[in-house]
Amino acid sequence: MHLKNLLLLQLLLFLGFCASQVAAKPVTIISHSQSHNLELATIEGYLYISTDQLAILGEGQRVTSYLKRKETLKAWNRSFVFTIFSPYMSCEGQNYNLILPAKYQNNQLLVPFESFFHIYSIIFDEDVRFTSDTLYLKGFSNRSSNTEPEQRPFKIVIDPGHGGKDPGAISKNGTHEKTVVLSIALKLSELLETNPNWEVILTRSEDLFLPLSRRTQIANEQHADLFISIHCNGSKNQEARGSECFYLSPAENDQARAAAALENASLLLEENPPISSLDEIEFILADMLQNEYLRESSRLAVLIQNEFKNNLAFPSRKVSYAPFYVLNGAFMPAVLVETAFITNDEDEDLLLNEEVQKDIALSLKNGIEEFRVEFLENSR
Ligand SMILES: [Zn+2]
Repeated sequence: MHLKNLLLLQLLLFLGFCASQVAAKPVTIISHSQSHNLELATIEGYLYISTDQLAILGEGQRVTSYLKRKETLKAWNRSFVFTIFSPYMSCEGQNYNLILPAKYQNNQLLVPFESFFHIYSIIFDEDVRFTSDTLYLKGFSNRSSNTEPEQRPFKIVIDPGHGGKDPGAISKNGTHEKTVVLSIALKLSELLETNPNWEVILTRSEDLFLPLSRRTQIANEQHADLFISIHCNGSKNQEARGSECFYLSPAENDQARAAAALENASLLLEENPPISSLDEIEFILADMLQNEYLRESSRLAVLIQNEFKNNLAFPSRKVSYAPFYVLNGAFMPAVLVETAFITNDEDEDLLLNEEVQKDIALSLKNGIEEFRVEFLENSR
């Protein structure tokens, strides 16, 4: 069994090596007033640093376990554990997402350079700066005039659900969820765009199909502070109505499971679905990264749901949790909002009303703004 694994791993390593075009790029790293000139690998346009190079910078060493596909780097007095072919790494029990998988080539483990040092800056609470060819670590960058507290805007990725060939839930009158949620998302974006506290990124601003994993990938690539996916619920029971806010966790109950199953069905419209049946999802999500953000995501869901309850005519259901694939892998607090049931006549009428859509957008804005203020207070 082990031998078979080893042969398979060797084959994968070989294929990985053949598939990638590697070029070198000189980068200077200035760390604690010492300067290191390194040749970094560029693969498909992204910079990678080897764990050998990291070991030099962090005055440490690396240990590879091929059978476990793991490598441990002891550097900067910490243990960093990388998994070959995986974007996840851990440091002292905390999981982090490198966004791109670590690659293994020529006996070297190559780690995405920019995301590694982004994570490094979080772990060591250090200001890390990267210009086109120089990376500054602490000790040097602090010499610059940067004495004012940083006032960077909070970055939110707003994800209008579905789009293109995926209409989402459809009412018996033919209203498409994808159209309603895009309209609400654009209104929310408009409310936030003029506010200097916020930077807004939309996953789609038109009627476009987007795979579920691409939506969180956008949020991760942008190092967003928040991810919010906007939806309308649907049910065979036309009496079912009301707004509901979810965060990612194995399903709380059958109703939550049904909402997740409906939203996850978009996966089956993708060209290379990551699953062959929707039953697989709870299993895949068992090891999810959102665990790290569970407390914050549930708090964000509560704040938004309170706003819905206070400001909107929809009955307020409750905050719940379920395995929504679109929230999987988000490396930040993330929620999925079911604004109301498009399959209920009263809810549908409200959802189609421009003024109500504006109120929904305003409630979302209030909820996330409260979250931002709380978040900043807690991180002080
Ligand atoms: Zn949906």
